[in-house]
Amino acid sequence: MKKYNFSAGPSILSPYTIENTAKGILNLNDSGLSVMEISHRSKDFIAILAEAQELFKELLRIPDGYSVLFLHGGASLQFAMIPYNYLNKKAAYLDTGTWAANAIKEAKLFGEVAVVGSSKDKIYNYIPKDYTVPADADYFHITTNNTIYGTEIKKDLDCKVPLIADMSSDIFSRPMDVSKYTMIYGGAQKNLAPAGVAFVIIKNDSLGKVDRAIPTMLSYATHIEKDSMFNTPPCLSIYAALHTLRWYKQIGGIEVMYKANLKKAALLYDEIERNKMFVANIPNVEDRSIMNVTFVMSEAYKEKEADFAKFASSLGIVGIAGHRSIGGFRASIYNAMPIETVAVLTNAMKEFESKN
Ligand SMILES: *Cc1c(COP(=O)(O)O)cnc(C)c1O
Repeated sequence: MKKYNFSAGPSILSPYTIENTAKGILNLNDSGLSVMEISHRSKDFIAILAEAQELFKELLRIPDGYSVLFLHGGASLQFAMIPYNYLNKKAAYLDTGTWAANAIKEAKLFGEVAVVGSSKDKIYNYIPKDYTVPADADYFHITTNNTIYGTEIKKDLDCKVPLIADMSSDIFSRPMDVSKYTMIYGGAQKNLAPAGVAFVIIKNDSLGKVDRAIPTMLSYATHIEKDSMFNTPPCLSIYAALHTLRWYKQIGGIEVMYKANLKKAALLYDEIERNKMFVANIPNVEDRSIMNVTFVMSEAYKEKEADFAKFASSLGIVGIAGHRSIGGFRASIYNAMPIETVAVLTNAMKEFESKN
């Protein structure tokens, strides 16, 4: 049976990525070798890494003076590396969910943390807007897309202190102005590649401002200097990322991706609004994520939640259970998801409504 995978992460990758990665696993560029069994210092792998970095720069229009790194440890290791490398006295954080809170927890190990705003009071169902970032903060950290709750900061903020963003679940989903950020990072397993690699876009001259000694592997300076090759990088995940990046370019780049994402999100949110059985979890329309759409049963149909889950599953719809912290449903409609798959879900919602 065909499956429609709405999993939040690891999540779907484009067929282009999976097919071409599979080819390289069996026989890389007709070399008779697998991409998994060649040296990371071989000509073939160095070309893979260089093209992936180039495509990052081209697709996101990354200005000169930034490096693109591929590191181990997922987004969660970045939660610690960021304060290790940047927090001298005080850092500012916006608390928009579990991932933001995890980042805050790590930063507190290194210095003073000013949590300038939090939406925890309403189970993170909005993006705080009235806050002031202290002018003496070493940096301001935000999570642009809150994967668990379905909220998103959809524009690049103007910020007087260095801006650092976790874009694990919305990188490449919209055009953005990288020059507004000092550092952008994320785990690859939502919009880029299988798990095992984190991407980091970092302004080269932003480092060297903390007094502490930094272990070699945890220092961004090491990875910039060694171009992500200080030790063996996660070669296979980087290879898969390269194919996703090629696919982004092939379909016309990030503007095209963005338009498709807006259409997909509108299709699903419109159905949630129209359908008497469902309610969007995020009340404020401008805070609604175009990557993770969260919704619950409306008051009158609360007891139908398990029935809908079963009905959806009978149609091959997979991965729509909400995160255990908020319940209900979450449909992750990442870049690789075609609108036809979103329509399978909206049609299921319509059918379920007419049956009830
Ligand atoms: C998934 C996710 C993370 C965690 O990524 P890991 O690579 O598992 O550490 C962090 N932040 C956001 C916004 C996420 O969606």
